[in-house]
Order: sequence, then C-alpha cells, then structure tokens
Amino acid sequence: MAKLTDLLTEVLGGRSAKTIQTAFGYKTVADLLSHYPRRYAQRGELTDLASLKVDEHATVLAEIASCKEIPMRQRGKKRLEVVVTDGRQTLDLAFFHLTQVHKKKLIPGTQGLFSGKVGEFRGRKQLAHPEYVLTAQLGEETDPEAAEAFANAVIPVYPATGSIPSWRVAKAIKFVLSTLDLTDEDEVIPAEIREKENLVSLAEAYQGIHNPETIEEANQGIYRMMFEEAFVLQAVLVNRRMLNDLQKSQIFKTTTEGILNTFDKKLPFELTEGQKEIGLQLEQELSQAKPMHRLLQGEVGSGKTIVALRAMLVVIDGGAQAALLAPTEVLAQQHARTIRSMLGDLAQVVLLTGSVIGKQRSEVMDQIASGEAAIVIGTHALIQEGVVFSNLGFVVVDEQHRFGVEQRAALAAKANDDLKPHVLVMTATPIPRTVAMTVFGDLDISTLSQLPKGRAEIKTHVVPSLEKPGHLERVWKRAVEEVKAGHQVYLVAPRIGGDVAEEDIVDNAEAKRAPLAVLEVAPMLAAGPLKEVRVGVLHGRMSSLEKDQIMSRFNKGPASEDGIDVLVSTTVIEVGVDIPNATMMAILDADRFGVSQLHQLRGRIGRGKFPGLCVLISEAEVDSPARERLEQVASTLDGFELARIDLQQRREGNVLGTQQSGRRSSLRLLQVVRDEEIVIKSRAAAMECFEKDSTLEIFAPLKNTIDEIEELQSTEFLEKN
Ligand code: ADP
Ligand code: MG
Repeated sequence: MAKLTDLLTEVLGGRSAKTIQTAFGYKTVADLLSHYPRRYAQRGELTDLASLKVDEHATVLAEIASCKEIPMRQRGKKRLEVVVTDGRQTLDLAFFHLTQVHKKKLIPGTQGLFSGKVGEFRGRKQLAHPEYVLTAQLGEETDPEAAEAFANAVIPVYPATGSIPSWRVAKAIKFVLSTLDLTDEDEVIPAEIREKENLVSLAEAYQGIHNPETIEEANQGIYRMMFEEAFVLQAVLVNRRMLNDLQKSQIFKTTTEGILNTFDKKLPFELTEGQKEIGLQLEQELSQAKPMHRLLQGEVGSGKTIVALRAMLVVIDGGAQAALLAPTEVLAQQHARTIRSMLGDLAQVVLLTGSVIGKQRSEVMDQIASGEAAIVIGTHALIQEGVVFSNLGFVVVDEQHRFGVEQRAALAAKANDDLKPHVLVMTATPIPRTVAMTVFGDLDISTLSQLPKGRAEIKTHVVPSLEKPGHLERVWKRAVEEVKAGHQVYLVAPRIGGDVAEEDIVDNAEAKRAPLAVLEVAPMLAAGPLKEVRVGVLHGRMSSLEKDQIMSRFNKGPASEDGIDVLVSTTVIEVGVDIPNATMMAILDADRFGVSQLHQLRGRIGRGKFPGLCVLISEAEVDSPARERLEQVASTLDGFELARIDLQQRREGNVLGTQQSGRRSSLRLLQVVRDEEIVIKSRAAAMECFEKDSTLEIFAPLKNTIDEIEELQSTEFLEKN
C-alpha cells in the first residue's frame, strides 16, 4: 500500500517515475495525485475531429473505418494506414513499426481513443504512431444499460507534454490510487468543518477527481481540494498572526514635545482625512506592547510616505531607530533626499544601498550601530548580515509587492531578540479584498483611498504608432511644449539596450520585434524631435551615483542651468518616484508592460497641481488583446479596477512564496479573484479551528501541515540568501 509521502520510484518503479518526474517534476504520491485533470471528456460522445489543429497534442475518440497495409518503396517494408471517423469527419493514422501487431487490434468498427501530435501529410491531418486504447468491441449487440454507462463515463483529460501523453499519466494515477492508503493523519480539514461546508473526504476527493463516475463527483472532489488550498493558506496566515500577537515590542507613546510635533508644525500642507485617521491608528498601535503588523495600501500619489514618516518620528521620539526598506536604489535615494529635506536637522538620516561601499559603508554601519542614525533608509542591502542596529524599533517596507515575506521577517529579526520591531508595509498596488486576505492575510490592513486635495487630472491616450504615425510626431511636439512651459517629461522604454541580455521584460507573443531600448531611443530623439530640450538617460545598469545625479538633475528640470528636461528611462522609475513638476509621460511599446505596471508608471505624473498627460505608444493592432489591455488602462484611473484585471490575466499561483515542493502550500486550483467565496469561507473556518484550540493540538494534521510549510519557507529563504 502506498502512502501520500511515498516516492513514486518506489510505487511506480524507476522508469515510469523518472518519465513523470522529468515531465512534471513530481516526486511523491501526493505530487502525482495533485496532477488535476484539465477537463473531463465524456467517453461516449465522439470528439469533434473538425477542430483538430496541426502541431497540437490531441486525443480523439473515434471509430476505425478502415485499416490497410501499404508496401513502401523500401523493399519489404510496409506501413499501416488507418482511417478513423467520428461519423462526420475522418482522420488518418499511420504506423511504420510493428504494423502486424497494430493491424490485429485495429479492426474496422472498433472504437478507440487515439492520441498524438497532429501532423499533416498530403494535405490531410494525420496522427503518426498515436498511442491508443480500444474502448468497445466489434459487432457486439449493445446492452442499453451498458451503453448508457459507456456514454456517461467521465474520462479525466490531463495536461500532457510531448514526452508523456494524457493516458499514461492517467494510468499511473489510477494505479497509485488503487494502492493508496490514506490515514486520519492525511485529512487536513477537520471533520466538523467538512460537515459544515459539505466537503467530501480526501479519499473521496481523489477518487472523484481521478476516477469519477459522474461529473458531479469530479466537481465535488475539485471543490474540496480548492477549499483545502484556501483553508491551509488561511490557517498558515492566521497562525502567523497569532504568533505575532504573542510577541513583545517596545512601547512608543506620542509626546507633545518631540520631533513629530515640530515636524507637524512646519508641514507645508494639511494632511488628508485618511492620512490623519491612519496616523492615529499607527500611533495607537505603536503605543502597545505587541508589534504592529500592518499593511498600508493606497493609490499612487495618495501620500503614504508622510504617513510612514510621521510614525517613524514617534519611534525616534521614543529613543529608537526606524528603518525604511525600498525595493529599488532609485526609490531609496529619493526617500533619502525628500526625507532629509523635510526633516532638516531634526533627525539624522542615513542611506545604505549595495553601492555604498568602502570607507563610506563602514561609516554608515557605525552610525547605525551606535544609534546616531535615527532613520536608516536602504534597499535589501539593509537585510544583510553585517548590519547591526543599536535599537531598531520600527520597520517600514515600501512597495511591498517587490519583497517577499521572508525579507520582511529577516529585517524584523534585526531587532533585539526579545523585542520585535513594529512593522508597516506599504503598497501602491491596490489589492482586491480577497487577494489581500490571501497575500497579506497575516497583516492588518489600512487603506488610503483619498488623494490630497488639488490634484489635477491625468489624461491617458493610446497612440497606435503603426496606424497613425502622424500622432507620434505630435507626441514629441507636446513633450517640447511641456518643457517650454517649465515641466519635466518621462519617456519609458521596456529595454535598456546594449549587448547585455535582459530578462525583466513582459513577453508579448504578438510582438514581432525586440522591444525598444532606452540606449537606442534616447540618442535618436535627442538628435531629432527633442533636440531643443535636454535629454537624460536612466536605467538599472548605471551606478547608484550616476542614478542619483541624473534623478537630482531631472528633479531640477527646465528651471535649472544643469537640469534635465526629458528623462528616457526603464521601469526603474516605476515605483514611488515623486517629482510633482513632471507633467507628461510617454510609454514606448506600452504593450510590453502589464496593466498594474502601466498604472504604476502613470502614477509618476499628475502628482502636483498640474494636469498630467500619459500616452501609451504601441504597435499592437486594434482588437488584439494587447491593445485592449492598453485601452483598459486608458479608460480608468482606478487602481483597484486595474489590479483586478491584472490578476485575472495572470494567475496568482504561489502566494506564500514557496516553490511547488510543498504538498499543500501552493494554489493549483484556487483563483482568489474568481473564488472569492471560498477564500472568505476558508478564512472563517481557519479562525474557527484556532478559536477551538489555539495550539491546534486537536487538529494535528492541520498543525503538521502548517509546520511543514513554515519549515519549508525558512529553508528556502536560507538557500536563497
Ligand atoms: P505615494 O502614496 O504614492 O507613496 P507620496 O507619499 O510619494 O505618494 O506622496 C505624493 C506627493 O504628495 C508627495 O509630493 C507628497 O509630498 C505629497 N503629499 C502628501 N500628502 C499630501 C497632502 N496631504 N497634501 C498635499 N500634498 C501631499
Ligand atoms: Mg510611495
């Protein structure tokens, strides 16, 4: 008998196990059983031969119409030519080896399933050497009941690859299923939850999914596994949250004497209602002995930085240090610049990124270690081992979607052993509620929905550069006009250029050429339509010093002697960059970017009181999916709406960050946008379990699964770093 954790090599034998592992990466029985069917075929109904496509792998159910041996030119060799039919269309099968063996089986009138890659021969579609199984005997009088059963039988159709066809997988799964020995330990969903939610047992689910008698059985099985995915994930997150609540942290009380107070008095604008409200919420949480663990999500430009900075000042007033972690060097530098200018000499701010090296680095490290540095701003360099804080009380992580849970944890671990820092995570990618529950389910959530007053509108246009080349000229003209009016302009291109291979580009299968590159576009424009203005270049391969200089010159803009007017850049400016005087952005090859990414990029303009113009330049054709994506971005400024569209287009896959190695740590069936209801129900179910027994001892299998996942996460984190 096989257990879920048994290796396939032991259960199936070396060869089959190897084929399966090569094709899908499965090692254990549980892995294989989580190979869910792509769909179910009704055995009796004839598959539509008319819709076969050349070069695709296909399985058809058909009846053998004829079977002939044909001599080939090579002496003594014969090939077997078989024609199968579904009653309307025909399809050719060809066999070149073992023709006698096949001929004996492939008797006209017999039905079978035939599978292979569809080819073409003399203008007719053909399967060469298909694998097949015969499904009915010739000339037998059909028993109506058997016919019924036959017609209604449900055949799982599995995702296949070239090296292993659907039914070989099916066969392996059926075999594993027939020897499977499930124990109570394997049942992760407690009986009472199963009963309440009408869920079948694990054994029934596996049977239903892989060996269903009816479609309902299959659906019930799939629903249960979907629920399990959501439930385990929620249990992990609820557990993390509970563990967090058991931690102790420093208490920071807001004073009326401190830096925060001075800072507030010289703030040049009034805080929005949302900023005030969340500000109070953060102050309240900082004043408690359990660590804050909060996500602040807000539209681009809603003013999250100030909210975070004010909370940092509370902590500094309390005598501790605050760290601000940014995903890119450009953003870290900007934060350092703006926070320094806002604070003046109220507090010391240091910047630590990967390119702060040598003597300067050791100086900065000393300042952090001595506590002289009150605010430490940095990229992931901050997480590195050498960095020691004097007294880290508060960690702010900006633009969290670029960081994993582990990085958050690693930075938090830099605090005193027994006192955890408060953690605030910020994201400008607004997340639909259930996604937030899933991805950030271990955090409390605040939402900053209001933009500061007096923001001007942003207009977005799609410019189809192939259909209307004239419009492109107008774009450049407009850019020059904006500069003449005293504003800055961003031009964004997907690629850096030069000879270096670049990975971080959205693959657009519809596109016919390589995406435009900053290093190629910039000189062309600077010598051509933009020759009247000063063009600068920014990309990720520049040194941090260069980046910093370029950004400060661009910040100065047309008003300054050594300013930059037009910045040609890659997506290094995607998140967080804040230059309120910039009014226009043109995105080249805009179809190469994802929906949320475009929204983020666009968020760089319209940040001040001047109206913004965003043009999405693309060669994508009318009605193509790429063009539609662009039209969607142009049609709304609502980040929530766009995030939803984005998520529907790419499945969220692995939310906990672990690879597929965990038996039950990844989402294979669940789509958190589509399956909202399951996410909500499973969250309630997980809470219920913890309420019944916070140690989960009475739900041992669930507890073990959670421990397994957490262990996996920490080993993966160690391996990566
Ligand atoms: P994001 O939420 O995208 O990180 P930022 O924190 O960078 O946004 O803020 C965007 C801009 O809005 C900054 O220039 C900031 O100084 C300004 N800002 C923030 N809050 C207010 C406010 N209450 N009134 C006016 N401007 C504000
Ligand atoms: Mg920001």
